[in-house]
Amino acid sequence: MKRSPLNRRTELKPRRSLSPYQKAKVVKRQDGICKCGCGEPLGDDPRDIDFDHIHELWEGGSNDLDNFAALKKKHHLVKTSRKAKERAKCDRLAKAGGRRKPTAAERELGRLLQKEKAS
Ligand SMILES: [Zn+2]
Repeated sequence: MKRSPLNRRTELKPRRSLSPYQKAKVVKRQDGICKCGCGEPLGDDPRDIDFDHIHELWEGGSNDLDNFAALKKKHHLVKTSRKAKERAKCDRLAKAGGRRKPTAAERELGRLLQKEKAS
């Protein structure tokens, strides 16, 4: 059977991002500790937390919650050398003391993390 390009497209696994609720679950599962191996707490500012596929999609990893790990953004950037450019930008921003405003999803995750800490 011949596949149309449209069908092939839907077969590709999309790189899905997690909802704030799902992200909070991942953080809770790790007891709020960075998964890079440093043992440091993630903190509760969502702008400092990255969610990463443990097994990359191209390696056959899934989009299940189980396949996500929360990392401190800085540690994730250090790990991912192809993001060196982004890291440089991050460092520049940090040096300048600049901080972007959190997105709506980040604010929601922040609320969930605060709630988790209070309970
Ligand atoms: Zn770390």
